[in-house]
Amino acid sequence: MKRHPFLLFVLMLATVAPTIPGCSRKAPTHTAMIYAFGTLIEVTVLGVKPQLAAQAESAMEKDFATMHHTWHAWEESPLTRVNRLLPTGTPFAAPPSVLPLIERGTRLAEASGHLFNPAIGKLIALWGFQGQHSDSHPPPDPAAIQALVKANPRMTDLTLDGIMLSSRNPAVQLDFGAFGKGYGIDLAIQHLREMGIRNAIVNAGGDLRAIGSRDGMPWRIAIRRPSGNGVFAILKVEGDESVFTSGDYERNFIYAGKRYHHIIDPRTGYPAEGTHSVTVVHSDATTADAAATALFVAGPDHWHEVAQRMGVRYVLLIDSAGTLHMNPAMANRIELLDRDLDIALSEPLEDKGAAGPGDPH
Ligand code: AMP
Ligand code: MG
Repeated sequence: MKRHPFLLFVLMLATVAPTIPGCSRKAPTHTAMIYAFGTLIEVTVLGVKPQLAAQAESAMEKDFATMHHTWHAWEESPLTRVNRLLPTGTPFAAPPSVLPLIERGTRLAEASGHLFNPAIGKLIALWGFQGQHSDSHPPPDPAAIQALVKANPRMTDLTLDGIMLSSRNPAVQLDFGAFGKGYGIDLAIQHLREMGIRNAIVNAGGDLRAIGSRDGMPWRIAIRRPSGNGVFAILKVEGDESVFTSGDYERNFIYAGKRYHHIIDPRTGYPAEGTHSVTVVHSDATTADAAATALFVAGPDHWHEVAQRMGVRYVLLIDSAGTLHMNPAMANRIELLDRDLDIALSEPLEDKGAAGPGDPH
């Protein structure tokens, strides 16, 4: 198992406030580190008194501990209880902590044409991408993969009647790994705002949402090469934006010389092919997280149509051959440090409003 959790990181030093003679604009910065969702979460707040910063830190610790417990896909949690009851087909009262993720997850899955599919928990478990893994293990039995693909579990197999949840398809098992972190970051930012904090960044192992500014300057987000060696681009983020990346290097294992990564194409049951990494910028972190996973599966030939349908406006995709695919708006705002990149510029992503349901494939 190989993990490179810090694909993106915030370049703090590069964003110090400009020095204005006779007027120091440097706002106090407070950073807290919290462990959740299998990664270290860095919460930085700016321009607040130490007492409020301490309150924010303890609120974030509590919030992330609760979220970590609630949405755990394999340790006993409200989610594992839901997964135990779904195959019975009988309606049951869904835990309130899980309901919003089911609702958001269903809408995002539909918009992605079910390439982002949080109902494929069985496939993810079959591949061994839940729990602790050995460094190397054989891939699952092809017949078992095929049976799960044929069962075609989807979020739209679920029925929610008030709080009563049931599944028409016994193969549905929920796994929020592809967007739970984004949803958690959205809740964290909402909580910080409720506490009166206007400038903050919540960075979970490189996936982040930033609000406000860094003392009047944009936050500068460094994008690392998918190899993990150095930075190839810088993205300026200001106002309220989230940056999320899905990559084949984040979680994988090698067996008999072949590498198997953790982003599964629900249509084949195997790790998605053709993509190395996808970075998405979007206002809310939940959508950015789900979209990064969906566009990874869509690959270099179909990411554009899926981004369009999910309402995403900034995409950067590195395909398996190393070509950098971007839409023009992303190309306009990104500062590329590597000069010799092979770049494929797409048609613009148009603002057609909210994404609708259906299947683009
Ligand atoms: P991310 O790093 O956000 O792309 O999320 C990857 C994680 O989401 C994996 O470790 C799985 O738990 C889960 N996952 C894998 N493939 C999919 C998929 N096609 N749709 C939804 N979740 C997925
Ligand atoms: Mg994701």
